[in-house]
Amino acid sequence: MSSLNSYIDHFKKIYVAEEVRHLRRLETALQRLRHLPVIYIDDKGEIPGEDMNSHTLFISGSKGETVGHCPASRGHLCCNYITVDLYLGCILNCSYCIMKSYLNFAPITIYLDTEVAIKRIIEIAENNKDRTIRVGTGEVGDSLLLDPVFRLSEDFIRALSPFANIFLELKTKTHFVDHLLGLENKGNTVIGFSLNPEKLINRYEGIAGTLAERIQAARKSVEHGYLVSFHFDPLFLTGDWQHQYAQTISSLKDIPQDKIAWISLGTMRYTKELKQKMGSQDFLLEEFIPCRDGKYRYLQKTRSGVYRYILKQIRKRWRSPIPVYLCMESQAVWRNVFGRLPHEIAELSAIFKEARGVACASNQGRII
Ligand code: SF4
Repeated sequence: MSSLNSYIDHFKKIYVAEEVRHLRRLETALQRLRHLPVIYIDDKGEIPGEDMNSHTLFISGSKGETVGHCPASRGHLCCNYITVDLYLGCILNCSYCIMKSYLNFAPITIYLDTEVAIKRIIEIAENNKDRTIRVGTGEVGDSLLLDPVFRLSEDFIRALSPFANIFLELKTKTHFVDHLLGLENKGNTVIGFSLNPEKLINRYEGIAGTLAERIQAARKSVEHGYLVSFHFDPLFLTGDWQHQYAQTISSLKDIPQDKIAWISLGTMRYTKELKQKMGSQDFLLEEFIPCRDGKYRYLQKTRSGVYRYILKQIRKRWRSPIPVYLCMESQAVWRNVFGRLPHEIAELSAIFKEARGVACASNQGRII
């Protein structure tokens, strides 16, 4: 059982930016972390070098633009996902975490002031009333790992739930949903769970929650009125992977299909920098090739086969077509797997339509 306290024990010190000193929720959060020393600073640059690591929490305002576009990859189809930086950095320590390659000397940052980000999302939604806006807080950290302490997701759920075209996704590898269950209006909030077979979680996903914990949390979320999503990303081709993934998908059978907002699939991929940080990992023994975006992936034929297999398991489990999409994949792979591109697939065309006023980071692979 992965408990919140065991995660909190990881931290040694808290730095707080003066600009958020007046926020009421700071006091509540610091109460929950009262065993830790707190130092107030004017600027992040004042954090001494010895504390520039993941054992330090830095509580800040939202300087600059925290709402952006998911960094799509050159040559790969963009799914028009909007990201919000809320919790930057993560202590779960997955072997494959891309942040290992660029966030080594950084504290875990919490953007405590949610107002600017929420306003920006509402503005985007109002300019795109005819489109589905998917927005998530789990791009640069786990959406729920520290949320029971800081309670930032509540602000987003409350403010965004009246908008029928906003799907807010909180993505996690924990089971920390209890603090959100009692909220009155959930709108289209989606609690997203990244999943892998238990064996692979134990091997590659550091101190993240177990598979059973995540599935149980998904059930609870649905029972309390949330939509859920599942992310099989990264998929690994190790040992009896077919059997393991089939079993994992099978264990989701009691989640009703109309409560699943979407399922995403992505195979293991890495940059040169990440490979250096990962050290020796058995999954690296498979054959990987460099792709147009500079990332290394399994061969195109191999990836297509993996996706087709996983898709078949998903279609076996739920009869109506749940939106299933590929994360950062090429047009060729989309065609190999689905025979079509996302805008030609009925259940995907709405979520893949680009929001006006938020430019896609990649011009390559634009689909509208
Ligand atoms: S949960 Fe996500 S952000 Fe955290 S270490 Fe794992 S891959 Fe990185």
